[in-house]
Amino acid sequence: MLPCLQLRTSSRSMTVMPAWVIDKYGSNDVLRFTRNASFPTINYPNEVIIKVFAAGLNPLDVGMRAGYGSATMSMQRDPLGMNQSGSEFPLILGRDVSGVVMECGLDVKYFRERDEVWAAIPPWKQGSLAEFVVLSANEISLKPKSLSHTEAAALPYVAATAWSALVNTGGLNKDNCTNKRVLILGGSGGVGTFAIQMLKAWGAHVTVSCSLNAERFVRELGADHTVDYTAGPVEEPLRALQKFDLILDNVGGDTERWALALLKPWSGAKYVTLVTPFLQNTDRLGLADGMMKTAVTVGSKALKHLMNGVHYRWGFFAPSGPALDEVRDMVDAGQIRPVVEETFSFSQVPAAMEKVEKGHARGKTVVQVG
Ligand code: NDP
Repeated sequence: MLPCLQLRTSSRSMTVMPAWVIDKYGSNDVLRFTRNASFPTINYPNEVIIKVFAAGLNPLDVGMRAGYGSATMSMQRDPLGMNQSGSEFPLILGRDVSGVVMECGLDVKYFRERDEVWAAIPPWKQGSLAEFVVLSANEISLKPKSLSHTEAAALPYVAATAWSALVNTGGLNKDNCTNKRVLILGGSGGVGTFAIQMLKAWGAHVTVSCSLNAERFVRELGADHTVDYTAGPVEEPLRALQKFDLILDNVGGDTERWALALLKPWSGAKYVTLVTPFLQNTDRLGLADGMMKTAVTVGSKALKHLMNGVHYRWGFFAPSGPALDEVRDMVDAGQIRPVVEETFSFSQVPAAMEKVEKGHARGKTVVQVG
């Protein structure tokens, strides 16, 4: 292996690369294939350039294609507001990557050229529907040896999201889950299929809500109990069950009207929802007012539920190489497997996005890039 001390001349000389880009927000027809996307450059000494072999798609890609979250992402990309509106284009989507390190910045210590890595890409960075992507070294992790690149690209974004929601926000970890009762609302998609497996590996008792036709699928991933939400108001069968220590809500809508009553009161039990109005607020009201509204909303809800003895929290994706290191060990130990529902070739990116947009996911959609 080559040490990560200098840039390789071969990729230094490249200036363009193939990629799927969007030049404006809209429906699927804004996706454009180009062979002339700008080659990513290392701007900070802790960055690496990765050759993409596979890219995973998430509902966020469909949202971002239509402009969802653009106000917050613009602020992250350009905190001083120096750039003109629209400077994010051409924008590259794709939040999961599995690939090989091509070049390292001068401060990168733990990775070397040719290392096989995986990562979840923060939404304000250029994505993985391209031949190369640049990321910070603390966002990447050595990929599980037991997985192909296609399989590996199915996990990072949902794993980092579930980790952030369950571990950082929910307070769960491998040492405190035994016999904890966890309810996952929406268990058959990307986040749910990962969360079920991680919680089962940690010894939790996992109940899942899903469609009737997904019950067998989520049970095969380890779910102890399933409830069909298509059979009628799902809160009714859930109310008949023993109360829960934690609820992970991947569904949103009206769930928080009834879900918090399913928690064990005055025991530290938490409801963590991934479906929050944060990005809609900032898109609609602008950053300052949007963030203020968000703080008031989440604060007042947290206080209201605290008075009933349960904790109300919002969960968010957080990029984390160290979290992916732990997930890698669980994957290589056979405790977690990727759930790839469908794979597409690089020329089929619009069809892959269409698949994600249709919903009813049973695991993940992955694009083979390299
Ligand atoms: P997916 O699209 O992969 O999965 C959603 C799953 O939920 C599908 O399997 C769907 O199947 C099922 N579903 C739909 N409606 C219900 C319902 N009422 N009850 C139970 N299951 C239902 O999404 P992800 O798993 O990737 O993400 C889940 C949610 O979390 C999304 O809303 C996403 O936007 C959000 N998210 C938020 C993040 C954050 O930072 N806050 C980060 C990542 C995700 P079917 O329709 O067939 O039942």
